[in-house]
Amino acid sequence: MPRSLHSSSVVPGGLVVDHVQAGAGLTLTTRPIASSARCPGCGQPSSRVHSRYTRTVSDLPVAGRRIVIDIRVCRFRCAGADCRTKIFAERLGPDLAAPYARRNARLECSRGMGDTPPTQRTGS
Ligand SMILES: [Zn+2]
Repeated sequence: MPRSLHSSSVVPGGLVVDHVQAGAGLTLTTRPIASSARCPGCGQPSSRVHSRYTRTVSDLPVAGRRIVIDIRVCRFRCAGADCRTKIFAERLGPDLAAPYARRNARLECSRGMGDTPPTQRTGS
């Protein structure tokens, strides 16, 4: 009996899953739970959404299936009157993905531990 793969077992914390597309792998369309973020320039919180964009981050494979997480990230307007940062993108947090990263933290960690596919390993 084949086992099913549920998104709740693979979704990193802090994200809400809006859609799941299963094929050869699993693609999760998500958004952060938080509805505000702190400006990196002045530290003030802002919930004034300027726009949204999608970040695509690869995660560890589960049961041999590739996992891709599409995250709808907000760009916020800074509320600080004297702040030079007018618009900023929310950060996803170190457990999820570093800025500009295409792989999430746990996939990066596994790659750093030498977790390479068997076809790339050298024989002993
Ligand atoms: Zn600011």
